[in-house]
Amino acid sequence: MLLRMSSLFVRTLREDPADAEVPSHRLLVRAGYIRRAAPGVYTWLPLGLRVLAKVEQVVREEMAAIGAQEVHFPALLPKEPYEATGRWEEYGPNLFRLKDRKEADYLLAPTHEEMFTLLVKDLYSSYKDLPLALYQIQTKYRDEARPRAGLLRGREFVMKDAYSFDVDDAGLDASYALQREAYQRIFTRLGLEFVVVAATSGAMGGSRSEEFLMPTPIGEDTFVRSAGGYAANVEAVTTPVPDPLPYEDAPAAHVEDTPDTPTIDSLVALANERFSRVDRPWTAADTLKNVVVALGHPDGTREVVVVGVPGDREVDLKRLEAAVAPATVEAAGDADFARHPELVKGYIGPGVLGRENTGREDAVRYLLDPRVVPGTRWITGADVEGRHVFDLVAGRDFVADGTVEAAEVRAGDPAPDGSGPLELARGIEIGHIFALGRKYADALGLQVLNENGKAVTVTMGSYGVGISRAVAALAETHHDDAGLAWPAQVAPVHVHVVATGKDPAVFEAAQTLATTLDARGVEVLYDDRPKVSPGVKFADADLLGAPVIVIVGRGLAEGVVEVRRRSGVPGQPDAEQVPVADASRHVEELVRGLLA
Ligand code: ATP
Ligand code: MG
Repeated sequence: MLLRMSSLFVRTLREDPADAEVPSHRLLVRAGYIRRAAPGVYTWLPLGLRVLAKVEQVVREEMAAIGAQEVHFPALLPKEPYEATGRWEEYGPNLFRLKDRKEADYLLAPTHEEMFTLLVKDLYSSYKDLPLALYQIQTKYRDEARPRAGLLRGREFVMKDAYSFDVDDAGLDASYALQREAYQRIFTRLGLEFVVVAATSGAMGGSRSEEFLMPTPIGEDTFVRSAGGYAANVEAVTTPVPDPLPYEDAPAAHVEDTPDTPTIDSLVALANERFSRVDRPWTAADTLKNVVVALGHPDGTREVVVVGVPGDREVDLKRLEAAVAPATVEAAGDADFARHPELVKGYIGPGVLGRENTGREDAVRYLLDPRVVPGTRWITGADVEGRHVFDLVAGRDFVADGTVEAAEVRAGDPAPDGSGPLELARGIEIGHIFALGRKYADALGLQVLNENGKAVTVTMGSYGVGISRAVAALAETHHDDAGLAWPAQVAPVHVHVVATGKDPAVFEAAQTLATTLDARGVEVLYDDRPKVSPGVKFADADLLGAPVIVIVGRGLAEGVVEVRRRSGVPGQPDAEQVPVADASRHVEELVRGLLA
């Protein structure tokens, strides 16, 4: 494959696009790989498309290796299957919904569990047909609230989605394990660093799921790790629940005037000054902070809920949202407080919260952090302006409608499996695997006859790779100040041959080198532009990011060409002079070595 710069459809840009926040976005646009068509919607240009195809190829090979077969569904789908599983509503504003000319409802698919389930139901009816794994590489649509960072979070993006079908739980476990191993091979081959973390299943449903995160400070996911091997998305971290405490000897609760204590710190200071305890000073962790939020339910209703957490921790809205999925979470607004005059801002306490505490069916739902076990003693709001209640004992003086994992996770918190303190890091989700179980098969009636002729519901898994996101993740981790620096496996071409100067002999030698390499199966981009300065050509080669750059120029008079490694690794020696007669063999070997 031989591309020529003089005719290649590409324009490199010297300026960063105004809306680009991260290097991958900046460089993919500047190097002419993608162009923005609308917010979160991108056009692929020839070089970008080549990288995308290479990532897809790795994924196809690894899917084939575990026996998964490729199919292809439409992106435009009727509403009914998604209505049957509840996701037409559950997806909320993230779903692109549209109508045809007959006013029938359609959607642009955000993911395809329903369609795969129905396809298998259509064609298969016996346990003998299983296990089965199908996949597609397809464009997905999600009207993301915050499309960002170019391909990293698009509203249209390319996903590989695979689905497994098994007759029993052991089968699902085996299918899940196969996909998990395939994912490890895919990301290793692509040159993407990854961590496998326990995850929440969100709107997808199902019993168990793991995410493949690429660690990077620009990632939107926060994950935790312990030295003992625990790893989880922060949304999936569970709090070790302390043992209940005896409270027979605890003092009775008492309400006190606490003027001018708008913050937890000021409240704690006043408590220590005026109501000091004998055993130790009060700390923020002794206060119970009641945070008002509004849940948006899939059916469109809005529910005001109060979340109680120890006052030394914030409510993490992403954790809360994962815990209440498919509902979404918003900060409570003035209208919410107006509807609930019992909520006295700054002084909200359990007295007005929850069915049991209030004896009212229509009480605001009260969800508590798991640390608030029976016997714990709290300072919290007394539901009156300027007053707090002290020594309010959980289990004795108040209860909740339920517990919720909504408090922030902090570095140093204990891992739930006892494997040590947690450290926090950020990452980009590049893959996600789910043991779905029978949710979709149940909703859509996918059954097969088992060995005894009895109809049983099929159990499923679903396995996604963000293909276009992986392209961005690769750019994010493989670049330097001058531009992209692709790993050879996914580079749009292996070698970028640059001819400099005006000497026709140079262009002849470069042309010969390019065609020889091409004939040997090396992918070449040849910068044959006659009137472009060497400086511009070098800058373009660095920006485009082929892993090997060959410069045919002045050295030709002495019989040499320059071979550079575009490693993107600062300080790595990367230029050597090679006799022109050896150049094609030398470069071919170099490329084969990089691809190996
Ligand atoms: P996120 O948490 O990033 O929104 P998700 O958990 O909703 O992603 P899944 O439904 O698990 O995503 O989709 C499978 C894979 O598709 C993800 O692991 C990710 O790599 C990719 N993906 C999801 N949403 C996007 C998007 N908006 N743009 C690009 N890739 C995406
Ligand atoms: Mg996911």
